[in-house]
Amino acid sequence: MSDLKPCPFCGSKSWEFRILDCEDREGTPCAYFCEACGAQSPWVYCRKSGEDINTMDDHKLIAMLCSRPIEDALRAEIANLKLECESWREGAERDRAEIAELSNGVMVASERAGRYAEEIAALRDKYERQPEEVTP
Ligand SMILES: [Zn+2]
Repeated sequence: MSDLKPCPFCGSKSWEFRILDCEDREGTPCAYFCEACGAQSPWVYCRKSGEDINTMDDHKLIAMLCSRPIEDALRAEIANLKLECESWREGAERDRAEIAELSNGVMVASERAGRYAEEIAALRDKYERQPEEVTP
């Protein structure tokens, strides 16, 4: 029974296979029961009236018990969202590094602009005062 998925209600992996004592025109139903909480799998008719009990289709029941298409779809969606989230995280890290680099460039440019402004002011002082000094 180790290949059975855990109970969707309580998580237990302890299943008991039972042949139900309520034969009808379809045959004799059987199902798995969770030994922890009593949840039961869908029924599968394991034999038709008059057939031997060995004809029960246990594999069909196990397949039904292990088939959870919504859960599988949600797990696939979660995996895709995790990948997408990781991609966004990597993009954010790249953007952060680029912003730091640009910010550093702005600082360097700002320092240069300050030096140029000082040089321009010095040159302006020099050339604006020069005519007065040159006068005879
Ligand atoms: Zn259970």
